[in-house]
Amino acid sequence: MSTRSDAAEEVVVIGSGLGGLCAGAMLAQYGKKVLILEAHYEAGGVAHGFTKDGYKFDTGPSFYCGLTDRGSLNPLKMVLDSVGEQVPSVAYDEFQFHFPGETLSIYDNNRRYAQAVRSISPKGAAQLERFTNRMVQMYDALKKIPTIALTANPWAFPKLFLLNGLAFAGLAPFASSLQAPVSKILDEEGVTDAFVRRLIDIECFLLSGLKADGTITAEVAFMVGERDKSIMEYPIGGATAIVDALVRGIEKHGGEVRLRSRVKDINVSRGRVTGVTTADGKVVSAGTVISNATVWDTFSKLLPEGAVPRSYKSRQLATPPVESFMHLHVGFSSSGLDDLIGHHVVSFECEDIAQPGKTCMISIPSVWDPALAPEGQHLAHVYTLESSDGWKRDKGYKEKKKDKAAPLYAALERVIPDLRDRINVDLIGTPLTHETFTRRYKGSYGPAIVAGKGMFPGPGTPVKGLYRVGDSVLPGIGVPAVAASGIICANTLVDYRLTESLMRKLYS
Ligand SMILES: Cc1cc2nc3c(=O)[nH]c(=O)nc-3n(C[C@H](O)[C@H](O)[C@H](O)COP(=O)(O)OP(=O)(O)OC[C@H]3O[C@@H](n4cnc5c(N)ncnc54)[C@H](O)[C@@H]3O)c2cc1C
Repeated sequence: MSTRSDAAEEVVVIGSGLGGLCAGAMLAQYGKKVLILEAHYEAGGVAHGFTKDGYKFDTGPSFYCGLTDRGSLNPLKMVLDSVGEQVPSVAYDEFQFHFPGETLSIYDNNRRYAQAVRSISPKGAAQLERFTNRMVQMYDALKKIPTIALTANPWAFPKLFLLNGLAFAGLAPFASSLQAPVSKILDEEGVTDAFVRRLIDIECFLLSGLKADGTITAEVAFMVGERDKSIMEYPIGGATAIVDALVRGIEKHGGEVRLRSRVKDINVSRGRVTGVTTADGKVVSAGTVISNATVWDTFSKLLPEGAVPRSYKSRQLATPPVESFMHLHVGFSSSGLDDLIGHHVVSFECEDIAQPGKTCMISIPSVWDPALAPEGQHLAHVYTLESSDGWKRDKGYKEKKKDKAAPLYAALERVIPDLRDRINVDLIGTPLTHETFTRRYKGSYGPAIVAGKGMFPGPGTPVKGLYRVGDSVLPGIGVPAVAASGIICANTLVDYRLTESLMRKLYS
């Protein structure tokens, strides 16, 4: 094995997921020499895109708020602003939930949302309004502390509090609720209506992979508040447009994103990180390494035995994972579908919405950006949770794949009943596909850390110079959350005066 040394880097980031890209972008604009090593031939992690027969498909996120709104709390927007990049987007105001026998429109305005619920459950609508009002109050309090100011460096805390003292004081009335499961707030607000409870369970499930009793209140407050106060938007060009903007931001600040560069080992000497070794045997030395790989991949595959205390490693590896996914990508004729809505959630009759195949998410982004599909065509990404257990590429694989994809076709048929006659391209992805293309342990959506029972950890590790970003660390899963993890990690690594000066540049 070759051990040829590459040039020394100040910071190596393992992985170009949105968490890794945001950390890299922030550090590059702070003046650090950043190299991002990505195993895949595309950047973006679960947000990477792919093209098939002229259809430009997303593979992951499609639901965004505040990509172009300076008033938004979205940390991704803050990172883009920090590196002077923009992602032109299309605003929309409605998406739909489909239940057996009824369809509910969800609007970007909480009052309209409650009005729509009134036609199904008048009592539930009033309860929903009380709940969303409480979420917006929390959002307003959270908004006063700009994410761009956050750090995990204890030496910077006095400055952080000094600059944002009033904002932290404003959060005090909510302090005990923010990390609690949002089901507690539903109980406090007297939300007893079964339909509304199910609705909030689904909304939580889409966010965290867990229902209301497992999802932290702060995350839901962020979602409800952003939807109401900011804009629901889809980026022109799809998720890849966001990835490309971040890569541009990194490169123009002297950083590099190197694709097809899988890191095999994180190198550690005497408790301190010294760099990484790539799969082709290249040693890249660096004083700081940031892992954007999942908690399970970082501690089981990348770190050498003995680099962290055994008890610490066992605790990390014991983090329960949310399931993986079944995916369906479809290209189909758009003829006569002029009023098609872009986002749908289909919930089939069942006691437990979290059961595989029972809740399906649909994104039809060509509604907002027709250039994503050939002329006269639409494209859709449909997905549902599916356990990775028991999946093997054996002789039963094809049949199982077809069987497990059936709810995805049925979900899209709920929106487009004659779908089968329109299809030009259909591609099915299994948990094995998801794992292969994203390099995530068991293809998991992320850690299933239950609110009130555990908390996502911060960016630091017991190895000096080794940090983590992405959906395995605070604040958790989702695009805004992983962007925030990148900001917090970057701010932790620089003199806080640089953060202050960035804030002045962005907000004065
Ligand atoms: C189907 C789906 C739909 C979603 N929808 C939404 C949505 O609508 N809105 C929303 O806000 N969120 C959504 N999410 C969640 C959100 O997209 C993710 O939480 C977030 O993008 C994860 O980013 P990350 O940086 O943590 O990790 P990842 O995207 O997993 O990136 C990690 C990167 O590290 C690389 N890597 C791993 N190991 C190595 C190694 N050894 N060497 C080099 N590279 C390595 C991987 O290849 C990958 O590129 C969705 C997620 C999925 C899967």
